[in-house]
Amino acid sequence: MKNYFKTILPLLILLAAAIPANALQIVYPKTPNTEVSAASTFFVGNTNPEASLKINDKEVKIFDNGSFVEVVPLKDGFNRIIIDSKAGTEHDIMTYIIKRVPPKSLTIPEAELIEFPQNEFIYAATVKGNTPLRAQPDEYAQRITHLDSNTVLMINGKKGDFFRVSLTPEKNVWVRADSVVTYSTINSKMLANIDTVSVCEDALFEYIKTKISFAAPYKITETDTGLSVDLYNIKENNADTTLFKPTSTLKSLAINQIAPENKSTYFVELNHRLWGYDAYYENGYFVIKIRKKPQIDAKQPLKGLTVALDAGHGADDAGAIGPTGVKEKDINLDIANRLKSVLEKAGASVVMTREDDTNPQLYDRIKTAKESNALFLISLHANALKDGGNPYEKHGTAVFYYNAQTVDFAKIIRDTLTKELQTKDDGVGMYSLVVTRPTMPLSVLVEVAYMIHPEEYKMLLDEKFRQKSAEAIKNALETYVKTNCTVSGTNYQ
Ligand SMILES: [Zn+2]
Repeated sequence: MKNYFKTILPLLILLAAAIPANALQIVYPKTPNTEVSAASTFFVGNTNPEASLKINDKEVKIFDNGSFVEVVPLKDGFNRIIIDSKAGTEHDIMTYIIKRVPPKSLTIPEAELIEFPQNEFIYAATVKGNTPLRAQPDEYAQRITHLDSNTVLMINGKKGDFFRVSLTPEKNVWVRADSVVTYSTINSKMLANIDTVSVCEDALFEYIKTKISFAAPYKITETDTGLSVDLYNIKENNADTTLFKPTSTLKSLAINQIAPENKSTYFVELNHRLWGYDAYYENGYFVIKIRKKPQIDAKQPLKGLTVALDAGHGADDAGAIGPTGVKEKDINLDIANRLKSVLEKAGASVVMTREDDTNPQLYDRIKTAKESNALFLISLHANALKDGGNPYEKHGTAVFYYNAQTVDFAKIIRDTLTKELQTKDDGVGMYSLVVTRPTMPLSVLVEVAYMIHPEEYKMLLDEKFRQKSAEAIKNALETYVKTNCTVSGTNYQ
């Protein structure tokens, strides 16, 4: 019974909210008195489908389910906007006062740079895993690398909320001061000893393991043929990889030491494209973990593969709200449930980051996906725009990725969805998000269609369209693995 309600409840919510009340309802802007820093906003809502609707005396198109979406230009200062809906004797008038304000300037007084004397360092260690090092002392600056917890850093300066971290004599990066614990000040560099480097494997992964005296910072970069991994603050060493034999995954492994920079670079060449990778510390070893190319069954390409599905938002976080009040979180979960069942029918294992109306933390969603050893992570959303955008110009299906290894996968999803759903191509874009940044699983975020485009919203409310969306994503997954995997068995074309 419990499961029955789990499946049926979001559907009932969708249906109930899809039947509009006849009276005028505005779902966006959220309040009648609001501030906007763009040259326009839009009114999203619903009214009697038979009504004639005017916003500041301009006729507005009402779609057959009563939905309307209208872009309204804003002048500086106060804008009085009157929404007037008339159907026979029904007459609803609402007044919105929207203040257009200048964009918030980010001119925070620049903090002073405190530089430590040469060869004086504070030692620190990262508190949590996935700690970013950035190019500048700024929350939004480029991410250089992400570090495991307890990675030891040499700090040689401070600016505002950030510590400056020395990677090589020439290269400094920045870490948030509150993401590390600091230890003593030392008047020399503390360098890590590398001992042996070995390669081992299990059913899913290859591991390059380096015995090391403490956890030093590292940076992992995708190359055309595999990975290049820099280990910093390393003592000159004789780490020997000559005993290394190529495997089905690893074509070659070369370690290049640049002694004056106290840096070792691992050039990892693979026999196949990247299928996900990670770097971390474990029991005194620095581990580079590389996913092997999956072997697939020609007749059932998704059989045995694990896919993590993330239905965006949940609970108090509704996501975008459509003209008749349906919430994005419910659409996302419904498509995720449908995708789960089509994938399972195709022989895949599916892990869900949420199965009901809850809102797990973003990093917990990633953790669920990682712990399941999923090959793919697909985060499902339905799109909206910020004030200033125009949903009649920008709409359709968009797919976001972060790591280069995922671009082709993102493109195949975009191509398949726009073709099978006949949606407009809203592009494939690189976007730094918690759910797109993981290097394992291969991670993408899919915006199936727009909640605030009246025709696409109507499609999202249609069960057949949501089912088709799920089938299209499954088809995209099949195409991707068929194009890139090794096929076992015969008769495959
Ligand atoms: Zn969303």
